[in-house]
Amino acid sequence: MKHDTSDHLSEALAQTLSPASRRAIDYLLLRWRSERTKADALPPYENVALGNLGHFADSMALVVQTSAGEYNLARVGSAFGDWGEISRDGGSFSCLRPDRAHSMRDAIRYSLQSKEPARVTTHQVAHGQFETYDLWALPLSSLWGPEVFVLVLDRRETQHDVVDTMFGATNEGMIALTAIMDADNEVVDFQFIAFNEGATRLLNRPAKELQWSRLSELSLELEESEAVANLARATKLGERINFEVSYPGGDAEVRHFKVSASPAGELLTVTLTDIADIKNRERSFRILFEGNPLPMWLVDSESLRILQVNEAAIRHYGYSAGQFLNMTALEIVPRTRRDDFRTFLNDLEKPYQGRDVWTHVRSDGTMMEVYPYVRRMDVGGSQTFVISVVDVTERRKAEARIEHMAHHDALTGLPNRVLFRTRLNEALDRAQMSQGMVVVFCLDLDHFKGVNDTLGHPVGDKLLQEVARRFTSTLRRSDFVARLGGDEFAIILNDIEQVAEASRLASRLIDVISLPFEIEGHQVVVGTSIGIAVAPHDGQEPDLLLKNADMALYRSKNDGRSTFRYFETEMDTRLQARRAMELDLRRALNAREFTLHYQPLVSLESGRICAFEALLRWNHPDRGLVPPDEFIPLAEEIGLIIDIGAWVLEQACREATHWPEDVRVAINLSPVQFRGNRIVQAVSNALAVSGIEPERVELEITESVLLHDSETNVRSLRALKELGIHIAMDDFGTGYSSLSYLQKFPFDKIKIDQYFVRTLADRPEASAIVRAVTGLGKSLQIATTAEGVETEEQLVHLQKEGCTQVQGYLFSRPLPADQLAGLLDRSFSLTDEAEALEPKRKLAG
Ligand code: C2E
Ligand code: MG
Ligand code: MG
Repeated sequence: MKHDTSDHLSEALAQTLSPASRRAIDYLLLRWRSERTKADALPPYENVALGNLGHFADSMALVVQTSAGEYNLARVGSAFGDWGEISRDGGSFSCLRPDRAHSMRDAIRYSLQSKEPARVTTHQVAHGQFETYDLWALPLSSLWGPEVFVLVLDRRETQHDVVDTMFGATNEGMIALTAIMDADNEVVDFQFIAFNEGATRLLNRPAKELQWSRLSELSLELEESEAVANLARATKLGERINFEVSYPGGDAEVRHFKVSASPAGELLTVTLTDIADIKNRERSFRILFEGNPLPMWLVDSESLRILQVNEAAIRHYGYSAGQFLNMTALEIVPRTRRDDFRTFLNDLEKPYQGRDVWTHVRSDGTMMEVYPYVRRMDVGGSQTFVISVVDVTERRKAEARIEHMAHHDALTGLPNRVLFRTRLNEALDRAQMSQGMVVVFCLDLDHFKGVNDTLGHPVGDKLLQEVARRFTSTLRRSDFVARLGGDEFAIILNDIEQVAEASRLASRLIDVISLPFEIEGHQVVVGTSIGIAVAPHDGQEPDLLLKNADMALYRSKNDGRSTFRYFETEMDTRLQARRAMELDLRRALNAREFTLHYQPLVSLESGRICAFEALLRWNHPDRGLVPPDEFIPLAEEIGLIIDIGAWVLEQACREATHWPEDVRVAINLSPVQFRGNRIVQAVSNALAVSGIEPERVELEITESVLLHDSETNVRSLRALKELGIHIAMDDFGTGYSSLSYLQKFPFDKIKIDQYFVRTLADRPEASAIVRAVTGLGKSLQIATTAEGVETEEQLVHLQKEGCTQVQGYLFSRPLPADQLAGLLDRSFSLTDEAEALEPKRKLAG
């Protein structure tokens, strides 16, 4: 209970912190305090660190003490790992960078001593920046024995330029003075307004004494240095001046300062630098200089000779220290840039922390790209430049690669949709100014899917590459081709004067693409269909033009492929109609506008109805009964077929429970219903709610189910078959390679497409195919159903060829459920040719 309340408390406290201030450490400290129930007991690890710390984990690490008294990193967040150069797997402290291990040990030790969260400060140099971190250790108790520690890295907001930091390291005195004037407006004295700690130390006077006092009152004995006169001059001129002063410090030591005074409005800011300090500074400079991971040079500001160079520069640039010391700084930039560089250095006043990228040259002549940092500096009395650089060659290369990738298609190397839109925008702008036109082609490949499906994706990919090559070599230099995705391409034709030119180019592209491709030993034949839109007539916006060209493409595909079509407004009207239908369709299921009709399948062996096929109808409020061919493709496209299909399954199974037990129900499935592995669930569901025996259910699929994702789909089919359900292949013979699909799955039935039945009389091939399929059915011992049987002649023929079942208007059209009873009583005796006429008479009667 107690934990509960404190949990809520800490949660509530955490909530009150604004999101921006919810740094990991704030949050953890809050939790730590609220979980600490007794003054000297550590809060338990589970309550503080477990739970909703996910987004903080980056900057944290977990440390566990080993039995040997050593520390082990058990978990390391990525930002923490970067700082410590620690791998994500952690490991013992003894394997870490010594200074990092040192910091962590210190923080842990302090936290153990105080039994409180403790922090130490650490630094790192990254990308030319000097970053300061607080490293916190939170001591925690744990269920499994010794204390554990959560370490949290908290970066301070302020970052410093590396070189600035070096200088900041020395303690300069900063003073703000204001001038005291006499009656003639001449500066006679100065008053202290503000100053820092460095100033009190350097002047050897307590702050109390300095505050608000006048320079003349401090008896600094500055007369000889003409300090007041110099400061007055700076005030008068409004310019920075530098001078040196010496005065006997109170402790009998003579002090030497460098003074830099610069007026700022009413105030005069004065910087005091202890010249004796420079010696120390040089030492610390050397440490930073030499150990710095960034290449650095110290350069004489007159001759630009390199005076000093660090290890990193030698490693990076390939010159030895000796070579560098015989060079000028100009020699690390390309010849053509040397004059610019000299001017740049001459003009340099303030430290330069360039965000511009410069090119530098290595000893072997290779180029690199760098961000330079340059500042003037007084070293041992001589004027120098300190130059340091961050090498960004790799970063820039990566950026360029990313840039390229963002605008190009990896497979063909062609520009992608993003770049296409940009170029189209530009072309449209230009055309608007010159009152010219811009022509946009949308292209896609005919039968590309077939290639992918039969020869595999690698061949499909190669084909796309070849197609891209042919496009590029056929187009003019001023044209622009992009791959928008899949087998979709688009072209911008600039500088077109007459539409006829566009037509000629379109024809040429169609010809070029229709020539066979030779890919990995396969002869591949595809084609391309083209839709064309012309600006400004068909639109002035990139999206509209593209959409219109796409509509024209749709038309040219419908008009038999390998052609081109120009956009016409009427196409848009058709699209609107389609949209209207989409809206209606989305409503239809809830509005109960769907209904099922049933068509019998007759067994030629028994002459009786052995199944009914459920066929979907849409009872549209305005349009009446809409046949499935008109709305199923759209329902598939917008994914609605999943819900509709589930409804069909349930409805048909329910209906079938009213029929005699030996009559099955056949239900059509769309390939889309197989997506996402949901079909087995949908069928099981229909079985469960209807209570029908699975053996009475027959699912009709088309071979397209085996085209896509065929392995997953075959798995689904097997699962369905294991339930006891029969699987039939519908519309056999219409696809790409029907026979091969029979090997992929053990179907229970083949339904021969009505096309073959219809052409039985006049096409000998049809007859041959029917014979082949029935023969196959016999040897595989599976049923063969002929669809679309309309005449006695067809029936006789099919019976002779050995079909086992028939279906068609000859027996019955699809009927609503309540009209099936009459059919079920009928017997169709069809054992010889004469009797084949029987059913029709019966049905007609
Ligand atoms: P299908 O599965 O091949 O269905 C047979 C089609 O042929 C039905 O058309 C049927 O009315 C028609 N038919 C039957 N006998 C004859 C005949 O003697 N002559 C002629 N000319 N046609 C005949 P329908 O009902 O228009 O269905 C068309 C297609 O729509 C179906 O072809 C099936 O692929 C699909 N379909 C129907 N219902 C559903 C469903 O619930 N889900 C799915 N995914 N598709 C369905
Ligand atoms: Mg069917
Ligand atoms: Mg069919």
